[in-house]
Amino acid sequence: MSTGTSLKLSGLTTSRVGGPARRWFEAETEEELIVAVRAADEAGEPLLVIGGGSNLVISDEGFDGAVVHIATRGRELREERDGTAVLHAQAGEPWDALVASTLSEGWAGLEALSGIPGLAGATPVQNVGAYGADVSQSITEVRVWDRAERQVQVFSNADLEFGYRTSLLKRTTTDGIPRYVVLSVGFRLHRGPLGAAVRYAELARVLGVEPGQPAPAEDIRRAVLELRAGKGMVLDARDPDTWSTGSFFTNPIVDAAAAAALPAEAPRWPAADGQVKLSAAWLIDRAGFGKGFGLPGTEGEQLAGGRASLSTRHTLAVTNRGTATARDLLAVAGAVADGVEDAFGIRLHPEPLLIGCSLPARS
Ligand SMILES: Cc1cc2nc3c(=O)[nH]c(=O)nc-3n(C[C@H](O)[C@H](O)[C@H](O)COP(=O)(O)OP(=O)(O)OC[C@H]3O[C@@H](n4cnc5c(N)ncnc54)[C@H](O)[C@@H]3O)c2cc1C
Repeated sequence: MSTGTSLKLSGLTTSRVGGPARRWFEAETEEELIVAVRAADEAGEPLLVIGGGSNLVISDEGFDGAVVHIATRGRELREERDGTAVLHAQAGEPWDALVASTLSEGWAGLEALSGIPGLAGATPVQNVGAYGADVSQSITEVRVWDRAERQVQVFSNADLEFGYRTSLLKRTTTDGIPRYVVLSVGFRLHRGPLGAAVRYAELARVLGVEPGQPAPAEDIRRAVLELRAGKGMVLDARDPDTWSTGSFFTNPIVDAAAAAALPAEAPRWPAADGQVKLSAAWLIDRAGFGKGFGLPGTEGEQLAGGRASLSTRHTLAVTNRGTATARDLLAVAGAVADGVEDAFGIRLHPEPLLIGCSLPARS
């Protein structure tokens, strides 16, 4: 286990912001992870768990407590009698490499989730999803360290109460501090080469299949990676359009009356309990925040001096152009949220966890 003080957290996050941690540990085994979490809890210290740092905005003042960086590795694939398999991955397994390895070994199921940054252990937290799929469709169980009961616990898929970008794990996280620390995750896989039905219209079009039809899993991975790269949604150390937390806002879910009040061309999809899911990207764009909003020469330049902006390829990502602070990212995000509310009466909610910081209050 590595350990130290005053590590700058900007080095652990994909948006490259965040001040120092009072203390930090890097846990390379499950045992080290539990020991580090227990030690922080017994000392009464606030605890921040960081995986790939791709869904966190940490304040410029840093985190006055213990930061545990997850670096546990290991995976095991067990074939079942029915021709499926369950892959058990340690929380610290890098997600996209895990997806790639299942496909190259002939197992399908995770292909539409290719190219998402971060580690396997974070995927159940916000029910990671893209291109019509999410991990709730594959997860069999999640092993956790329960900090309240101080014991290992195993949750079934149903126990986790998955929803759109949420789960029991996220709902029990307070100010970015989780009750349950994920140790490992089990995923159900199917024999390839065919992948799961392609639900997302844009992906089906690229693959030349009808929505709802299956396609070869390797083709789905290739197409998803291409689509994501075109939107700056695959991490690239040379490309500031990817120095972000991915989508900064979730797609809002509103009641039918609020949806009916929107222009007829506003994209919308049915959600649970008669509610309607809207496109945050469409609302942002139509409220007047185009790609690159915040860059020098754009209307939003004064918000953060050009240091932070919407991606030049996707209006949902708030990006660090190289020298941004957390305050800069939040200034751009806050202006966008306020502008969408003014234009459509709908408040957007951040998807990343905001640690020790928040969107600026409305003036
Ligand atoms: C370019 C880009 C594209 C993205 N595209 C997508 C996308 O298509 N779909 C999508 O859903 N997300 C997307 N994201 C967001 C992000 O990659 C995912 O949410 C990812 O699962 C976060 O993993 P992480 O390991 O980086 O988590 P972190 O950012 O390190 O942590 C996120 C949260 O999970 C908690 N956490 C992490 N590990 C554990 C653990 N083991 N136990 C308990 N809590 C834990 C943290 O405390 C924190 O609250 C994107 C991000 C980027 C930068």
